[in-house]
Amino acid sequence: MLDNCTLCGSCINVCRYNALSIERAMIPLEDLKKFEGIIIWGELENKSGQLQFKKVVYELLGKALELNKELNEQISVAVLGPPGISALIDELFYYGTDIVYLCEHELLEDFSNDGYTTVFTSLIIDKKPSIVLYGATIKGRELAPRIAARLNLGLTADCTGLSINKQKQLVQTRPAFGGNIMASILSPYTRPQMATVRPNTFSKVKSKQSKKGIIEKISVKLEKQSIRTKIIEEISSKTESINIEDADILISVGRGIGSKENIKLVHELAQELKGTVSSSRALVELGWTKHPIQVGQSGKTISPKLYIALGISGAIQHLVGMQTSDIIIAINSDPEAPIFKVADFGIIGDLFEIIPQFLKLCRKNKESSL
Ligand SMILES: Cc1cc2nc3c(=O)[nH]c(=O)nc-3n(C[C@H](O)[C@H](O)[C@H](O)COP(=O)(O)OP(=O)(O)OC[C@H]3O[C@@H](n4cnc5c(N)ncnc54)[C@H](O)[C@@H]3O)c2cc1C
Repeated sequence: MLDNCTLCGSCINVCRYNALSIERAMIPLEDLKKFEGIIIWGELENKSGQLQFKKVVYELLGKALELNKELNEQISVAVLGPPGISALIDELFYYGTDIVYLCEHELLEDFSNDGYTTVFTSLIIDKKPSIVLYGATIKGRELAPRIAARLNLGLTADCTGLSINKQKQLVQTRPAFGGNIMASILSPYTRPQMATVRPNTFSKVKSKQSKKGIIEKISVKLEKQSIRTKIIEEISSKTESINIEDADILISVGRGIGSKENIKLVHELAQELKGTVSSSRALVELGWTKHPIQVGQSGKTISPKLYIALGISGAIQHLVGMQTSDIIIAINSDPEAPIFKVADFGIIGDLFEIIPQFLKLCRKNKESSL
């Protein structure tokens, strides 16, 4: 076996002599049925000194409610953090949670791979869920693969779709081969089935009535010396403070803008519309914009109320990051540009003619309303 073999198994199918095989740990089919329910990682974030659940937790709850129409099992949220977080939990019940597994410990105050992996792994071993979902956030992307490795499970990262098939398996859909195909991935022989989902991929669905749920306190065994990392200071970068994932209005710019200098026209428009500027990957590669504002498969997935695409062709890798926006307006000089297929309103024309006219109109309206 070569050192770089990842045990993907593709050599087995192509071996002409049927000489290869891989023995994998498989749970007997009857034992798979013992795994039940969906657990979501209730990731917390500190916003202006206040702890709260990340938006993606509610989005995953929305999806779990939908999956549960086929499964009819329990939906639970695992909340890990320092003592005192129980006050935040009630809100989760409004979004369809049946049980909250509450793991409080001083050593869970800051996120650490060692601490969170140990606690969440033992929770999964104990509760035997059939599905575990994580937000594909910076922390979710660190935590989920570690848990998968400890439990010898598969993990589908950055899913754009989740559904349940006739065999009650989780169908995990995500772009593959550079975004040219959508792959549907199953984990037929192991449980739980685990996936990460990017923020803004699914919608938050608030259930109409308040719901009474169960809070189950989980005793946590953790020792200081088992946590090998310590956060000394948090420094947020200037560009990271522009969070395109939270913006209601995004003015997104592509290669059609022609030069770095011309981007100031887009900023003028953003200022007028009280929006935030984002871009396609082409501009990041040209060094005209920075990666934190890139929309798409290898950038961020966003879902604003309004997305204006200026000089963006609409490559599939871009579309997967923005097609859940409420309203999409595209301006492009090429009538065949694929962006028009997802746009609610399309303007075929030169953005250097259209934006100045639009700015003029906005300013005129503003003056007349004064
Ligand atoms: C693995 C992988 C991951 C990727 N991830 C991403 C990603 O996350 N995000 C992303 O965006 N891309 C991503 N890409 C790249 C993607 O395939 C495209 O190359 C990229 O999106 C193109 O950017 P663009 O639309 O700005 O440029 P182009 O495709 O060059 O399009 C420019 C558009 O501007 C229009 N135009 C030109 N002049 C004007 C004008 N004066 N007025 C109006 N319209 C004009 C043109 O008609 C054209 O449609 C990825 C690619 C790969 C292989």
